[in-house]
Amino acid sequence: MRDGDLLGRYERVLERLDAACAAAGRRREEVTLVAVSKLHPASAVVILAAAGQRDFGENYMQEALQKREDMATLADSAATENIRWHFTGHLQSRKTASAAGVFVLLHTLDSCRLACALENRLASCGERQAVLVQVNLAAEPQKSGVMTENLPALVDYIMEYCPHLELRGLMCLPPVFDAGEAARPYFARLYALREDLRARLSLPLPDLSMGMSGDFAAAVAEGASLVRIGTDIFGPRLA
Ligand SMILES: *Cc1c(COP(=O)(O)O)cnc(C)c1O
Repeated sequence: MRDGDLLGRYERVLERLDAACAAAGRRREEVTLVAVSKLHPASAVVILAAAGQRDFGENYMQEALQKREDMATLADSAATENIRWHFTGHLQSRKTASAAGVFVLLHTLDSCRLACALENRLASCGERQAVLVQVNLAAEPQKSGVMTENLPALVDYIMEYCPHLELRGLMCLPPVFDAGEAARPYFARLYALREDLRARLSLPLPDLSMGMSGDFAAAVAEGASLVRIGTDIFGPRLA
């Protein structure tokens, strides 16, 4: 891929994000663009980091850790030292050790079992981890995420037993893909769930991670604070 293509796509996404914020009457600073670099090389991340992109998302733990290593050898640290890595993939309880201390935000906490594994790991190294709870809004059996009816219990568990987890909000992957406006009711639903939790727990819960290449404008309109965009920035994934 030529650098110019990547930077051109990136610029267009930034313009669309500006337009989506303006249309929704929101300030651009309210929405963080997470560039989802899964299955794209470290070299592409370096190019975007040099262009000023700070937040990157990865879905596979092995790949995420490898990419960070690759970048250390590829780039001068000035371009990449400010990168904030997000984990947006499914996290397995037995792999939590490798996640500790690496990611600014885990978007996909979805069970008490996983919360417990993370808590134990974090307690032993004395670190805190910011997390979002992923909600399976349409109760799709093949998808990760806590079922809506189990969300309050999971949040209560985190509040009571996981002092090293900092709960910042909710995340979803709507059942419709690349569907633009058709995804909007799901985003509105996630917003409402967050408002319920806020009222019940008196927590700020500032973050809603929702919106991808095909539907991020709708997510911004419904209150997203983080949009996760892969394809429209990096092009098609290779694997
Ligand atoms: C791959 C992925 C994205 C990015 O999707 P695009 O359609 O390529 O923008 C966002 N969020 C999650 C959880 C993903 O797995």
